Amino acid sequence: MARAERVMPGGVSSPVRAFRAVGGTPLVMRSGEGAELEDADGRRYVDFVCSWGPLILGHAHPAIVRTIAETAARGTSFGAPGEQEVELAEYLTSRYPGLEQVRFVSSGTEATMSAIRVARGATGRDRIVKFSGCYHGHADHLLVAAGSGLATFGRPSSAGVPEAFVRETIVLPLDDEQRLTDLLCREGDRLAAVIIEPVPANNGLLLQQPEFLITLRRETEKRGILLIFDEVISGFRLVRGGAAELYGITPDLATFGKVIGGGLPVGAFGGRRDVMRHLAPLGGVYQAGTLSGNAVAMAAGLATLRTLERENGWQRLNDLGRQLEALLAPVLAAAPCPAQIVRAGSLFWISLQAGPAPRSAEAIDPCAADRYRPLFHALLDRGIALAPSAFEVGFLSLAHTPQHLESLRDGIASALLAPQGVA
Ligand code: PMP
Repeated sequence: MARAERVMPGGVSSPVRAFRAVGGTPLVMRSGEGAELEDADGRRYVDFVCSWGPLILGHAHPAIVRTIAETAARGTSFGAPGEQEVELAEYLTSRYPGLEQVRFVSSGTEATMSAIRVARGATGRDRIVKFSGCYHGHADHLLVAAGSGLATFGRPSSAGVPEAFVRETIVLPLDDEQRLTDLLCREGDRLAAVIIEPVPANNGLLLQQPEFLITLRRETEKRGILLIFDEVISGFRLVRGGAAELYGITPDLATFGKVIGGGLPVGAFGGRRDVMRHLAPLGGVYQAGTLSGNAVAMAAGLATLRTLERENGWQRLNDLGRQLEALLAPVLAAAPCPAQIVRAGSLFWISLQAGPAPRSAEAIDPCAADRYRPLFHALLDRGIALAPSAFEVGFLSLAHTPQHLESLRDGIASALLAPQGVA
């Protein structure tokens, strides 16, 4: 890390990795295998971060490693249409509700940024709505009240974003139908889009009541406002068709990343054909990328999704999630500090606050961060890696075994009951 800090700000390529929210020095990782990571000193950790979501099959899954090697041997990127991107596009569009066309990009940030641009181009309106606590990547106009990486820095938004750039972004709280319908009544004909993480997983796990999402769909549709589901985390993870399938709600546009890239840099956005036709070269909304749709990333994504299909992956992941909840719930309930597990399929959040699970960023107790810090370090000392922030979720992969889940249970039990405690 000392070498890293000399040549990279904070020693990292993405800020949450720097441990600022939990203190201490980040570990430098050397390799990953299945559900485990090995650091530069040769210590092993059970990994519940999974590269923040993409590694749904675990690290270095043999089928993915083989696919990447075989594809790369025939050329990594052609700068021209390729077979793999067509196959992945066919896969995604045939399985995600209402997804007729997609465009590939190289990150979730690009996907949401471009989806918003298409929505503005298609509607001829400028204004957008997002919800506080939802993170949609780091495009300027979306860096407003945007989730844990920013929450733990105690900043509502980022320096370096001119006020004028966020003037067309309206922020609403989650879980508040009244505020939502009032705003849509008032501003409806000026709104291009409402963007939401249908399973908000960037400021804790703020599970929404289905009625809220149903109202959102109904009220946006009435007014010609495009509804964008940001499924960068939830897409092709919770169930095959993501939150859209889970809730039975079809958005106009959706954004993807993480799982669909099999551990390589991939994002995608897409939706109705009549909206996507506004994108260049068909329409006037410009969007492009040198390595977009490159063969290796597409092949890794396809191999990941096909492995999930073949191995009944979504069912097994949900079963693993249920097992984890059953293991952790009694231990957390017996803890001297308020603690509970909040879960959606293979996503989980250890919430260290009292009362019912929060459904909005405003309902989060910031003191939970103080309770999380010692728990995080106690687990890391025992060889268990959770996210270095109280408000990031944990991820399970198909490589996690019941023994890995038990090790988390045992680690939490001994950390919470240790004399120096977490209370
Ligand atoms: N949307 C959501 C819901 C995300 O969770 C993330 C990243 N965690 C992004 C967008 C941005 O993706 P990326 O980091 O690949 O730019």
